[in-house]
Amino acid sequence: MVSLVFCCECVTVLWGCLNCLLVDEGELLQANDVKLERLLRAWGQWGRREVRDQLAQKKVLVNGCEVTNPSFLVGPFDEVLLDDRIVQRRVARSLMLHKPLGVVSATKDDEHETVLDLIREDWAPQLHLAGRLDRFTTGLMVLTNDSELSERLTLPEQKMGKRYRVTCDEPISEQMVAAFEAGIWLEKEQVYTQSAKAGLISEKECYLTIFEGKHHQVKRMFARFDSKVVALHREAMGALELDSNLMPGQWRLLTEGELKGIRCS
Ligand code: URA
Repeated sequence: MVSLVFCCECVTVLWGCLNCLLVDEGELLQANDVKLERLLRAWGQWGRREVRDQLAQKKVLVNGCEVTNPSFLVGPFDEVLLDDRIVQRRVARSLMLHKPLGVVSATKDDEHETVLDLIREDWAPQLHLAGRLDRFTTGLMVLTNDSELSERLTLPEQKMGKRYRVTCDEPISEQMVAAFEAGIWLEKEQVYTQSAKAGLISEKECYLTIFEGKHHQVKRMFARFDSKVVALHREAMGALELDSNLMPGQWRLLTEGELKGIRCS
């Protein structure tokens, strides 16, 4: 069932310029552009001929403009109306969250509080996680309904650096720093990690930037040296830095500048 919620707030809109928006709750967003004909066929349960008739009669508006071309590509945040009826109208929402200790990176969990539980908004169920952190890792997480943005942040081929502040129970040696840069053998995956960047902060603390996101990667990299990570905090993903004004558990929408920084880095 599609329920409609009215919202008149100032939010980030990527493809349209809408202030007053209807949002489809719980609907899965298409990741990429789709042909207008395909969208209308699915929406109206129509055949090709019926859709083409509707288009020929100039009944369809995309972001306020008449479109008659069935192959016109519609983005996930384009507004599509047919005879003033809403075929598609969504708003893009992307936010950064300061993940606290003990909260799980999931949208649902029977046992523990999830990062999604921290977003007390009626549109929160539309969000997905652009990358995860362990339950006992803190720091920057991005939640979004924009699949393109989350792919940019998480797909390994994008090589988006994730910078962590790592605290260990043992001194961090120059040899470890060199090994992190050279690559660490991961037994389970039978691969070397990609070259990481490390910089010492103090005897037992360092920054580590990794360019992939294997399960428990940072902890496993240190475990190769029998070193236990006692605190792990993500400070940055690419150009996006965790806002130091956000206390653990707090979040805010990403700014236009931050969105641009992610797309262009
Ligand atoms: N590496 C880890 O070990 N844990 C995380 O949460 C992220 C990276």
